[in-house]
Amino acid sequence: MELLEGKTALVTGGGRGLGEALCRRLSNEGCNITVTDLAHEKARSVADSLPRSLGLKCDVTDYAQCVEAVEATIERFGKLDILVANAGILLSGAISEMDALDWKKVIEVNLLGSFHVMKACAPYFIKKKSGCIIQINSKSGKKGSYKNSAYASSKFGGIGLVQSLALELAPYGVRVNAICPGNLMNSPLWREGENCLVNQYARNRGLTVEQTLAQYLAQIPMGRSCEYDDVANVMVFLASDLSSYVTGQAINVTGGYEMR
Ligand code: NAD
Repeated sequence: MELLEGKTALVTGGGRGLGEALCRRLSNEGCNITVTDLAHEKARSVADSLPRSLGLKCDVTDYAQCVEAVEATIERFGKLDILVANAGILLSGAISEMDALDWKKVIEVNLLGSFHVMKACAPYFIKKKSGCIIQINSKSGKKGSYKNSAYASSKFGGIGLVQSLALELAPYGVRVNAICPGNLMNSPLWREGENCLVNQYARNRGLTVEQTLAQYLAQIPMGRSCEYDDVANVMVFLASDLSSYVTGQAINVTGGYEMR
């Protein structure tokens, strides 16, 4: 029997990257899965490749769309057990160069978006007196990030949100935790497109892409990039009864880079 057999999960930002990998793992562990994303076609195409699945458009900056996604999930599968608040963006830059609207956009997607989707699930979880909320945070939720203040602020805020909701929802049997991955250096966010992270970080530091990758790797005690499975393994633990006494935690998955 798989660890999450018969559970129903909803993932935001599930159309590509880490979110897609987490959807696939939840499905392999026996979940019904609602794949949601700002990009509807991507959500639908991931869902189409999985059994017992639903693909929906959900822009997490729009609370009404989060409520619709939760309602559609309950209508389709009869229940919801696990929320993975994964949707996130990263726009970096020095404070003197960064546009305030870009800064605000990062906060709106990463922090307000997490709040919206958690708020959309909370009344249902409170009523059924169970549920599991997992936020995909970052090592940048624990430590400042060079020329990356919007992202780090959104992720620090995310841990405050997780800890506060853990306190608020514990009496109802609802657990709320975060996962703080290190750099997923092989992910599309890092590698694909002109504005991918490695290009942004190289520009911010005045280094080449190769120098930037080497600099990041050199900081990781375990000497390798974080991979999707590293994060998915912790997600399965947090979503399962193996972690029934764990709430309000922000678990580092960083190969030893971050220890607080
Ligand atoms: P990604 O850019 O590959 O995927 C993000 C997905 O979120 C995309 O499918 C995108 O369409 C969707 N999205 C963007 N804005 C949205 C919105 N407003 N509403 C709904 N969906 C939206 O990124 P990723 O690397 O897969 O990152 C996923 C999560 O993991 C993010 O929260 C990110 O901060 C976190 N994270 C990533 C890394 C990394 O190195 N890639 C490291 C640590 C944490």
